[in-house]
Amino acid sequence: MTSETSPMDSSGRVSSPFRAPEALEERPPSRPAGRQRAGLLPAGFELREMTGYEEEYLEEHFAESNTAELVNQVLARCLVPPGGDFRAALRAVRALPVAHRDATLLELRRCSLGKRVLSEVTCVACGEHNEVDFDLTEITVEVAAAPETIECHLSDNRRALLRLPNAGDQADLLAAGVESMAGRRTWMLTRVLLRLGDDEEPFDDHCAKALTTKDRRQLEAALEKAVPDLDLSMGVVCQSCGHEFSSPFDVAGFFFSSFGDVP
Ligand SMILES: [Zn+2]
Repeated sequence: MTSETSPMDSSGRVSSPFRAPEALEERPPSRPAGRQRAGLLPAGFELREMTGYEEEYLEEHFAESNTAELVNQVLARCLVPPGGDFRAALRAVRALPVAHRDATLLELRRCSLGKRVLSEVTCVACGEHNEVDFDLTEITVEVAAAPETIECHLSDNRRALLRLPNAGDQADLLAAGVESMAGRRTWMLTRVLLRLGDDEEPFDDHCAKALTTKDRRQLEAALEKAVPDLDLSMGVVCQSCGHEFSSPFDVAGFFFSSFGDVP
């Protein structure tokens, strides 16, 4: 399982808010069984292609560090008529699992700017840059279905009920600017805890901080397991050394690079 949609590693600006830079790794393309094809729009909404409204929004906000917020906003705008009230659409986008949001973003890229994508990939064997040109329609987008909630038994016999982190949590975590990994873990656990023993949400951060490290790790592992991945990768053959490897497909990176010079 890859960790690019991990709710816990959203730290600062990355080329994609959904994938850590170190995610470029050697792994065979995999198509696990039991996955569904994506096309996972919020119910009642239809995606339209981008217009000048979104183009202007993107250009005005390019430099902002919260790339998750940026893509949520653009997607929400493209779920209503140009210039329309997108507040309900934004709520719906924020409620999507990150992988489902990303699959929709990929569809927006395809319908707005075409299916050809040109990208640079660094060879994992020799470090040389490779230009990769491919067709978005050749990629199979598969996203697993996500459970609504998960339940865990803590070491003190209490039960914890959690909901899955979503695209809104991802944007809010980036906006919160929490520096440390442990702090982000606390932030996210506080946010997604629905029930702890006999207590119901909302919880303050003391509840998440007071959990044992063992329990926190268990909860995090359970969340990571339940959060669906967007299983996207492209096969690359290095033009310098001939090494064959699989490179992650960076949805937001391709999306943003389609709009002029990304800072
Ligand atoms: Zn190479």
